[in-house]
Amino acid sequence: MSHAARATATFDGMMPDDLIPHIAAHANEAGLQVEERDTSLIVTVSLAKVALERAPSSLKVRIDAEDAAALQNIRDYLLYILDHVAPGLVASGAWQGDFARNRLPLNFCTATVRSVRRVAPNFLRVALNCADTKRLTEERGMHFSLLLPPKERRPVWPQLDGNGRTVWPKDADQLHRAVYTFVDLDPSRECFTFDVFEHDGGRATTWARTAQPGDIVGISGPGSGDFPAGKDILMAGDETALPAIRRILAQSSADRSGHVLLEVGSEEDVCDMPRPGGIDLTWLVRNRGETLWDRLATAVLPQGPDRYVWIAAEKELVRKAKARFRDTLGVGAAEGYFAYYWEA
Ligand SMILES: Cc1cc2nc3c(=O)[nH]c(=O)nc-3n(C[C@H](O)[C@H](O)[C@H](O)COP(=O)(O)OP(=O)(O)OC[C@H]3O[C@@H](n4cnc5c(N)ncnc54)[C@H](O)[C@@H]3O)c2cc1C
Repeated sequence: MSHAARATATFDGMMPDDLIPHIAAHANEAGLQVEERDTSLIVTVSLAKVALERAPSSLKVRIDAEDAAALQNIRDYLLYILDHVAPGLVASGAWQGDFARNRLPLNFCTATVRSVRRVAPNFLRVALNCADTKRLTEERGMHFSLLLPPKERRPVWPQLDGNGRTVWPKDADQLHRAVYTFVDLDPSRECFTFDVFEHDGGRATTWARTAQPGDIVGISGPGSGDFPAGKDILMAGDETALPAIRRILAQSSADRSGHVLLEVGSEEDVCDMPRPGGIDLTWLVRNRGETLWDRLATAVLPQGPDRYVWIAAEKELVRKAKARFRDTLGVGAAEGYFAYYWEA
């Protein structure tokens, strides 16, 4: 990883004794790579590295990131965690470094609805016109946050403050945020598409059903989620992970092998999925009484040293899968992705 952007800070003041273990616990929970010692911590994410060094009444932070957008993302995340583990500490920080201030966040842009069409019994495909499509194509990450402004109000978008921290609109201006996976990005036409799984009570579902050409939304990203490594792969997910699994399978080399488990509501939701010949695909249909966990509870690990386990679905299922594959069966940090895509 090249480190083109850097920021440093020193925070002074009262700090809880368990500051380092507490931050480490959050990073571990998020599945990040963590090296923890008594008074120091290094957290590595795909595009950045954060080093924390604690003295009795000060905390030194150094962030090295691949680019300014990655620096902004990891810095926002760190400040969010610090606000939680040591309330009030962030205000004492004197920051120096290569970060932008007093402007729109580097990973933010607006887009307008081009069209919405039904592509499956429970999926709508939304096409957005977006002048930043080239940037979204070039930066890493399969996903983005869709930011929906409150109805009948002039949208207020996030802004970087004088310290380069992203400030989100609050109260009546608060944005609804939902994460989606790019289906297709077309920089030449400056537009991209994504698929919305329609579910009860979903604000994004209601939005997609009623969206009109020209309606404006915010887009934050791309981010979270690289194409997984591994020649032998076990993948599992529900409808919310279907777009990501489809992209991963479409990008997979012809010699990739393994098993994909996909859970959907009814047989009508079963669809064609691109895949290499060595990948078996099993559909599990809820209204036939089949569930992902029934299979994952006994699924065997991919064989061979070049293996990968990729699981994304509802939070509780992912918690159980992570406990089995990571804690019981020893799938290492570089061999697995366990992400909850929604919470019941
Ligand atoms: C990395 C990532 C990628 C994702 N990609 C996609 C994608 O490409 N397409 C897609 O459709 N979703 C995707 N999701 C899931 C999507 O972000 C969530 O389902 C999100 O909650 C939808 O927002 P909402 O505004 O519709 O519902 P919310 O306002 O967040 O939730 C409203 C209610 O709906 C319930 N709910 C949320 N999701 C579901 C569900 N799947 N089934 C049943 N009830 C639900 C919640 O429990 C809540 O009670 C992705 C999530 C992540 C983290």
